Amino acid sequence: MTGITNESRLRSELVTVAESLFHRGLTAGSSGNISVRLDDGGFLMTPTNSSLGRLDGDQLSRLDAGGRHIDGGQPTKEAALHRAMHQRRPGDNAVVHLHSPHATAVSCLDGLDHRNCIPPLTAYHVMRVGPLPLVAYHRPGDPAVVAAIAAIASDCHALLLANHGPIVGESTLQRAADAIEELEQTARILLLLGDRPARPLTQAQIEELTDPPQSREEPSPPESRQGARHAGTNCLKR
Ligand SMILES: [Zn+2]
Repeated sequence: MTGITNESRLRSELVTVAESLFHRGLTAGSSGNISVRLDDGGFLMTPTNSSLGRLDGDQLSRLDAGGRHIDGGQPTKEAALHRAMHQRRPGDNAVVHLHSPHATAVSCLDGLDHRNCIPPLTAYHVMRVGPLPLVAYHRPGDPAVVAAIAAIASDCHALLLANHGPIVGESTLQRAADAIEELEQTARILLLLGDRPARPLTQAQIEELTDPPQSREEPSPPESRQGARHAGTNCLKR
């Protein structure tokens, strides 16, 4: 696929995915933003003050490989979050950041484990999200958040910004959307459990999900292997 054709496809896909996230209540108003890496190393990004429910593919912000705005609307004010993720995760071609209500509620809880804010409650959370470190609170626009993300994003593709919301990088936009939606669902489950004693997956159960298929007698379906990301409290490096 040529560069232009691929860019056209990505513009269309970004609008479709954003609309789906918005209309299912995963982010409200003009919150949330998305970026994708292009074949030339540049980026498409959602414009500032835009609703994910009403994007125009022709008006998406176009940035060059150095992060300079070269076309379309002015990029989101949270562009620095995306740049920090893309710089630290060159294998991830898409980054999604939402103010999804349940994950954001968890980000406001006191006493979180900063290395992993959500325990491994379900197999799909383990496979699609993995460990979820907390990034300390920064006021909107504070450039110090870039260093805070950069310090941990190489090891973890999903981060929770304190008193703010989740940000996830993945190889494709659809995978990033699926992962951040899984994160939101698990945050909701965590809050539903409340003070009841929970029974997270054991280390052996986590390893069963993350072991390479050749080491097991009966391989699981490819999806569960490819998506496996949780290895105890350590992030899976890619
Ligand atoms: Zn935000």
